[in-house]
Amino acid sequence: MTLAAKTALITGSTSGIGLAIAHALAKEGADIVLNGFGDAAVIEAERAGIESRFGVKAAYDPADMTDPLAIAAMVTATEARFGGVDILVNNAGVQHVAPIDEFPIEKWDQILAINLSSAFHAMRAAIPGMKSRQWGRIISTASAHSLVASPFKSAYVAAKHGLVGLTRTAALEVATSKITVNCISPGYVWTPLVERQIPDTMAARGMTKDQVINDVLLAAQPTKQFVTSDQVAALAVFLCSDAASQITGANLSMDGGWTAA
Ligand code: NAD
Repeated sequence: MTLAAKTALITGSTSGIGLAIAHALAKEGADIVLNGFGDAAVIEAERAGIESRFGVKAAYDPADMTDPLAIAAMVTATEARFGGVDILVNNAGVQHVAPIDEFPIEKWDQILAINLSSAFHAMRAAIPGMKSRQWGRIISTASAHSLVASPFKSAYVAAKHGLVGLTRTAALEVATSKITVNCISPGYVWTPLVERQIPDTMAARGMTKDQVINDVLLAAQPTKQFVTSDQVAALAVFLCSDAASQITGANLSMDGGWTAA
């Protein structure tokens, strides 16, 4: 399969799952637009590395996913530079762990904005171009928390459940335009996002780091293993293939059996 002549815009792709998806799509020949925060020199090295390693064009857009105007401008800039956004991966996400009655209001607003509303704003901007070209792939990184809850993650669970509703609605709206819209729902993937929530979970549950890893994180996954970013990326590549053209409106679990229980 080749994605040559396609352009993929991946939000939150300076780290973790998003970066793995960017690499995997570039390996298939897609031009890449990276997005996310981080050290400017590290991001530039990553951008240049994608170009040299995979022989594709790569750009970086620093749009803040809490800013609807910046999201729309990122899509417009990508269309101007590469001719379109053929593959949109809504991946940017943040977490905060606290009981509801102590949950900071600004954290609730931030998580809803980044983990849910940014996908709406990006889809809203990218779908007209996909419709005009009669091809598109929209993939959102949801989570096992789009299907089940965990305590102390109210904003994250609410946003991820909402992302699935948005995905299903969009899939129905664009179904005759050769555009598919799906979620991938990983269980725990060892990335900076997971590492960062360990101290808060230790505090919220009164546990040690090892207890959080084994009794909270991996306890949820019957395989007792973390999912890898590369496995998530491989599913994203498959969803971009012709073989996946009839998969739409789906929420595909990759969670070591977590949500089977
Ligand atoms: P990560 O922290 O490694 O990466 C998050 C990315 O989002 C980074 O590139 C970061 O710069 C970017 N980002 C954060 N705030 C942003 C903003 N305001 N604007 C633009 N970019 C912003 O995390 P990850 O684990 O790779 O998570 C990626 C996605 O996968 C998230 O949506 C997360 O909810 C989801 N997910 C992760 C896991 C897991 O276990 N790691 C499991 C299920 C789902």
